[in-house]
Amino acid sequence: MIEVRHPLTACAPGTTRELVALHYGPGGGAKAYLQAALHADEPPGLLLAWHLRRLLGELEAAGRLRGEIVLVPMANPIGHAQRLLGRGIGRFELASGENFNRLYANLAAAAYARLDCTPGKPLPPLAEVRAALRAACEELPAAGELASLRRILLGLAIDADHVLDLHCDNDAVMHIYTTPELWPQVEPLARLLGAELALVAGDSGGDPFDESCSLAWSRLNALHVAAGGSGSWPQACVAVTVELRGEIDVEHALAAADAQAIVGYLATQGYVDAAMPELPPLKRAPRPFAGSMPVYAPHGGVVAYRCAVGSELRAGDPIADVVDPLSGALSTLTAPVDGLLYAREIGRVVHAGQRVAKVAGEQARRSGPLLSA
Ligand SMILES: [Zn+2]
Repeated sequence: MIEVRHPLTACAPGTTRELVALHYGPGGGAKAYLQAALHADEPPGLLLAWHLRRLLGELEAAGRLRGEIVLVPMANPIGHAQRLLGRGIGRFELASGENFNRLYANLAAAAYARLDCTPGKPLPPLAEVRAALRAACEELPAAGELASLRRILLGLAIDADHVLDLHCDNDAVMHIYTTPELWPQVEPLARLLGAELALVAGDSGGDPFDESCSLAWSRLNALHVAAGGSGSWPQACVAVTVELRGEIDVEHALAAADAQAIVGYLATQGYVDAAMPELPPLKRAPRPFAGSMPVYAPHGGVVAYRCAVGSELRAGDPIADVVDPLSGALSTLTAPVDGLLYAREIGRVVHAGQRVAKVAGEQARRSGPLLSA
C-alpha cells in the first residue's frame, strides 16, 4: 500500500489540512476508487473504511490484487474539523454554506478540446480520454480550501473504472444511487450489499461527486455527436453512491459484512484474485429517483413514527404523527404513493415544512433537481 498525502489550499496562514489516499494493488490497469464520509457527519463509511483497509492489506500481502484500488478513508478533512455548539457539521461547509457533495465540475468540454477527434480518424482510446480528463481536472481553479478538496477528490477518481462514494442517510435501509445505463454493472454490488433499493436517474441535478465521474462519458459522447463525429466511447466509469443505512448504524458486524460485499464486488470486476462470490437475490428492481416522494411536516412538533424504515406501504398508509403539545393538534403523515419507506428523519422534533420521510414508488413523478440541499 502506498499512502499519498494531498495538501489542501490553506484557508489561513498557519493552518493546513491534507487528504490521505491509500493505494493498493498494481497501477496502470483497472482502477477502483472508494471514498468514505464526503459528508463528514456520516460515520458508517468511516468504520467500513477501517474494515476495508484491513481486508485490502491482507489481499495485497497475499499477492491477490489484480488492479489498483484507491481508498480514501476520510474524504472530507474540512467537514471533520467543523463543530458548532458541540456537534459535528459535516454536510455543508460553514464558510460558504455549500454542500460538500455538490458542484463537482463537468470536465467534458475541457477534456474533449484536448482530444484529436477529427472526422474519419479513429476515436482516441480510453487511456487518452482519461489522460485528458485528468488534465482538465488539474486545470480547475483551487484558490480556496473547499475548491482544492473538490479538485483533489475528482482528480483521484476521474480516471477510475469504478467509483464507490460511501454515504449514509438519516435513518434508512441500505440503498444505492446510480444511472439507468450503469445499473446492469451495479446490480452485483446491490445484491452483495443486500441493498433494499436502487434509485436511478440520468442526471439528478446538483452535480454530485459520482455523477461528475460517470456522466463525463455520456457528456463526451454528446459533445462528439454535436461536433459531427461518429462512433462513441463506452460508459467507462461505473460510479455509484452507496447509502450505508442510517447515521447510527455503525457496528462492526454491519461494517465487516459490507466490506466483504465490496471486496466481493471488486472480485466480480477482476480486481481480486478470488472465487466469484455467490450473488444473493436482488431485493427489488431499481426504481426511478424521480419516483422518490418526500413527506413533509405540515406544522412543527414532535414526531411519533408509526412504521419502520423498510416498510412497504400503500398510498394513504400512516407513516408518522406530528404532534403539537401546545395546541393539541395531531397530523398524521401518510404515504403519498405505493412504495418503500426507505428513509426517515432521525430527529424527533421537526419544524413546519421539514421533510420527515421518503417513499420510493415505481413511477417517476418529480421533475427538476432531484437531490435535496
Ligand atoms: Zn451523504
